[in-house]
Amino acid sequence: MPPALQLPDRQNWSCLGCGRCCRVHTIVLTGDEKERIEKLDWRGQNASLPQPWLESSSDKNSAAQPQLARQTDGACVFLTGEGRCLLQNLFGAEAKPRACRIFPFTFQPAGKKHIAAGLRFGCPSAASNRGRPLAQQNPDLQALAHLAIPPRANELPPPPVKPGCQLDWPAFLSLVHALGELLNDESVPLSIRWLQILAWTKTLETYEIVESDLPEVLPKLHKLIRAGVTAKDAAKGRPRRLTRAMFRLTAAQYARLDAPGETTGSWRHRWQLLRWACAFALGWGRTPSIQPELARVPFRQLDVPLKTNSSETEELLTRFFRIKISSLQFCGAAVYNMNFLEGIKNLALLHASILWLARWIALGRNREEPITEDLEQALTFADHNFAHSPGLGTFGARLRLNLLFDSGELAGLLGD
Ligand code: SF4
Repeated sequence: MPPALQLPDRQNWSCLGCGRCCRVHTIVLTGDEKERIEKLDWRGQNASLPQPWLESSSDKNSAAQPQLARQTDGACVFLTGEGRCLLQNLFGAEAKPRACRIFPFTFQPAGKKHIAAGLRFGCPSAASNRGRPLAQQNPDLQALAHLAIPPRANELPPPPVKPGCQLDWPAFLSLVHALGELLNDESVPLSIRWLQILAWTKTLETYEIVESDLPEVLPKLHKLIRAGVTAKDAAKGRPRRLTRAMFRLTAAQYARLDAPGETTGSWRHRWQLLRWACAFALGWGRTPSIQPELARVPFRQLDVPLKTNSSETEELLTRFFRIKISSLQFCGAAVYNMNFLEGIKNLALLHASILWLARWIALGRNREEPITEDLEQALTFADHNFAHSPGLGTFGARLRLNLLFDSGELAGLLGD
């Protein structure tokens, strides 16, 4: 029997045909995919394979792999003037490369009998919760899960909880469930829920985890954390200058939108990255021009903590993080092989980065405070990079993450 699919609740999605994914992703092909597209009956459809339809990666690290070529405006070679995929139009969805078929969905093994499905908010339709409820799309998603999950992947163990701590699937999933309970308690403001989650993470880091104790320990720990971390613990004052510099370096990675083909590894490109890194570390003057959809705004206006207490903002962010947790898109092979606890810290930093980005977008649109539309755009930018940007998985980025957590100042970046 195939593993059962676990779908996120309260989530809708349908493709709006906006073409964003066809402009911002680089699609690297396997040999099989290349051959399959070449062998399609183009003549029978009174069409021809656009030429050139392949290009080599300009990134030295992936030079050997062919990828789909770009039109002059950067769009995928198969994107039509009507915003549709030519391969899908002529030959059906099965003709598309695997990565295009799966996007924006994610699938992770969740034990021997289940697959956890998630959605990337890099797709604007997912961020704005438009389209059909996912529950109504189960058969289609089952087929995609089959495509996405390698055979026997469900037999692999879960990610470690922390270095040297490997649990079995039921115990690991009980921790995931407990984390979800803290996040989903909507009677508490989201910024406080994050403080509680960070305190819970810190406790588990120091506690010697014994599988058989978890059913008894986790409810007690919840009680303690809920009673111990309340609104009065919300961070007061601004984090230190060094903390803000480290944070901006990470948050800027989430703001990037490298046009395909731009990550060349050339000296010119490296020099540009170095200049941006210096600008974000110093935080003087205005933000550099790192992508066309973000205006240059003064750093001093950007580094102001954001209030997240409107019900719409809280609902949107809670929905986003609930999906990240329930779909296991925060640790293990899905996210730079992070262990469970490091993955939680990384989610907290992602949350802070989204708030920072939302303010940046709002300031560029002459608004002091972001509205829902700005936050949705921030989620689209951030989740495009989350778990995919090489810059966020480097040793330096992970060191910054752990330093921010250990300093206790990550809490000060999570909004009021
Ligand atoms: S970004 Fe989302 S809505 Fe837009 S074309 Fe891609 S899948 Fe469809």
